[in-house]
Amino acid sequence: MADRENVDTNTGEITSDMVELASPSELRKAFGQSVRVDDETMRGIQTFEDAMALSTELHGDVESIADVMGSGFVVTDKDELVGREMILLNWHFSAGDYGRPFASVAAVLKDGAKVIFNDGGTGICTALMDFTRSRGRWGGVHVPHGLRASEYATCPECNRPRSEYDVICTNVLSNGSECGDTSEKRLRGATYYLDTSPA
Ligand SMILES: [Zn+2]
Repeated sequence: MADRENVDTNTGEITSDMVELASPSELRKAFGQSVRVDDETMRGIQTFEDAMALSTELHGDVESIADVMGSGFVVTDKDELVGREMILLNWHFSAGDYGRPFASVAAVLKDGAKVIFNDGGTGICTALMDFTRSRGRWGGVHVPHGLRASEYATCPECNRPRSEYDVICTNVLSNGSECGDTSEKRLRGATYYLDTSPA
């Protein structure tokens, strides 16, 4: 039957594409039998630690999903990558909000940390576009000094660049009107660059 094509008829194994239709006996054959835990035991779980202890009792140990599935790469703030030696393993460009492109970069740091960072600015994204255009490649780049940050003052109201001397914020908002904020307060923004200096 076509509906059973996800089950190997010899081994009873269910393929990872998974089942549209499978009988209880097929599921049992493929996966075995789960442990049933009685209500009293389940009711007795009060804390995270209780769950860890019961999991260990039932299954032998507690596994980390990151150790078994996924790529192990963690999305990381560029701020944490300033001055840190890395290999840019691979990058790609995507169209972000309003079609503004950004680069998404998978990199490995000297200490083995696996990171993903994103950049849509005039710094990293533009540099990687130039790199890809001139070298015809999308990764495999050693950056001995990691990222570099260039800080600037921003308006606390509209979050866009605004000098200390702009008494009234003249940034034009997405609705076409001017921000007009008059506070003296400024926040800090940053543009990030790939540090191009040699090792
Ligand atoms: Zn503003």
